[in-house]
Amino acid sequence: MAAFHTSDRASAIKANIPLSTVASNYTELSRAGRELRGRCPFHNDNTPSFYVNDEKGTFHCFGCQAGGDVIDFIQRIENMNFTDACDLLEGNSNIAIRKVPNPAQPNSKAEDARRIWNAATSIVGTPADVYLARRGIPLSRIALQPNLRFAKLKFDGSEALHPALVAAVRDVRGEITGIQRTYLTEEGEKLCVDAKRSLGTIRGGAIRLSSGGDEDDLGAIYLCEGLEDGLSLLRLQGDAPVWVAAGAGMMEAVKLPATTTNVRIVPDNDFAGRSAALRAGVKFTKQGVFVHLNRLPDEFKDYNEFLLHHLASPVSPEADPGEESGA
Ligand SMILES: [Zn+2]
Repeated sequence: MAAFHTSDRASAIKANIPLSTVASNYTELSRAGRELRGRCPFHNDNTPSFYVNDEKGTFHCFGCQAGGDVIDFIQRIENMNFTDACDLLEGNSNIAIRKVPNPAQPNSKAEDARRIWNAATSIVGTPADVYLARRGIPLSRIALQPNLRFAKLKFDGSEALHPALVAAVRDVRGEITGIQRTYLTEEGEKLCVDAKRSLGTIRGGAIRLSSGGDEDDLGAIYLCEGLEDGLSLLRLQGDAPVWVAAGAGMMEAVKLPATTTNVRIVPDNDFAGRSAALRAGVKFTKQGVFVHLNRLPDEFKDYNEFLLHHLASPVSPEADPGEESGA
């Protein structure tokens, strides 16, 4: 039954959406006889080896031997299953087709984000260090975080420079596509209530926080909305890497590595967070990933608040198992 519908669906997509239109979002194509040619978006291609034939509806790369139809193309480049690729092509997905930066069409905001990231420095001894300590998540208590840095940056076009905690947002391949900045005072307080600013492409990527284990082991990860909650998870759990989507609605858009089989979603404790977690859970389950939805006790609005409460009441059986048995 499913095969009947999906093949109908595939035929309709292939008849209505020219492959060159889709592929040109990822690489610049120019005419070469009956075909279109460009640098292959699937491998580091110096000579144009990627060919698109709109009459046949197929692509082929003579460098890496990638090939197939428009659905294969999206599945491969977006790391998606068949259904999600069809959803995206039919426009029923809230994931926009990604424009991959290339020399002909530079993504200037992503470039700006990478420039800021490359110039940023270690957090140690900066207002960002103080800020994290105030939130109960000093870097001394969690694993080294290669995706967090410090910089002094302009805030909303002001001329003055303000301290900022800078977090790298990486796509599923690990490339930096954007940053998230948390603007601070010199004393390590948030500069204002709404002190976070994103730059570049955030949706689909994540701020990757390390649990200090094997960096490549992404078999099981936590997924949460905010950076401070992610660091709080590391401090209290610390048994798996944490990916921060940088927004409730962004969780479902996060592209998971093919090696991830287990995701524990930890949303903020409000309606927006819980409903976003459900949507993300349904989506990841369809991809064959085992999903666990975490729910905080009602009195805590997010995981950082939960951590701060936990730290304020240090006598707990888990924290000090010897206390009761020795009495
Ligand atoms: Zn190729």
